[in-house]
Amino acid sequence: MVKLSQRLLEIAKKVPQGAKLADIGSDHALLPTYLVQQGTVPSAVAGEVNRGPAEAAQRQVRDANLSGRIEVRLGDGLSVLQPGEVDAVTIAGMGGALIASILDAGEDKLAGVSTLILQPNVGEDIVRWWLRSHGWHLAGETILEEDGKIYEILTAVRMKPEDEGDAALYADRIVHGLTLSGDKLLQMGPYLVQDPPAVWFAKWEYELDKLAMIRRQLDRSVTGNVEEKRAALETEISRIKEVLECLRKDKP
Ligand code: SAM
Repeated sequence: MVKLSQRLLEIAKKVPQGAKLADIGSDHALLPTYLVQQGTVPSAVAGEVNRGPAEAAQRQVRDANLSGRIEVRLGDGLSVLQPGEVDAVTIAGMGGALIASILDAGEDKLAGVSTLILQPNVGEDIVRWWLRSHGWHLAGETILEEDGKIYEILTAVRMKPEDEGDAALYADRIVHGLTLSGDKLLQMGPYLVQDPPAVWFAKWEYELDKLAMIRRQLDRSVTGNVEEKRAALETEISRIKEVLECLRKDKP
């Protein structure tokens, strides 16, 4: 049985039993191999744009004796699929902008897909935004830390035409006495902010450190709209601090 990292295990848990799966950007095809071995999915497609990882995936599938169940396909994003071929898609371990562009470019290939499990390494807000504006309901969010890195996993299900959309999920709301705008919910996670675990606070402390570093760089810069950029940065830093302070206060 192939062994998964904690991050991939968490993603695996979200794949519906019996789904026809495509794992896009599969690299060594660990996730589909595990899911077939576990009996979670009967078969899977492992998509890879790069030849090296695709060959590694082929080897993995062969070594696991699963050549009849997992098909490794070389190609860009969802282009490796036919519409209606799978009903669940996982895309993990890339930036949010790349994940959104893969979904965008291959939207027609998502016909028949009812579940998306997405794990952006950065730019989670871009993925949430894409889902919200393309008829997908964000059904759940998970955050975890492994080997000093923090990951978010976003699970989305296709909305029915009669569904209202995610407007309510992202409507300005009061969380523990603080009004959070739709933009902040897109950025920080509409479910995660509700009862944030310690790892969520750690993530945002880390983001604050990054913003502070950018501010120090700006302080040394003399070109461009430094004042404007500094003001925007200050606003962002104080807004995040305010959210953290407020949500932390509520922790027992
Ligand atoms: N999904 C695995 C995981 O989460 O452990 C592997 C992540 S690895 C960091 C990202 C993989 O995505 C690489 O193997 C890369 O070749 C592949 N990739 C990047 N862009 C892609 C695209 N447009 N279509 C398919 N695969 C892509």
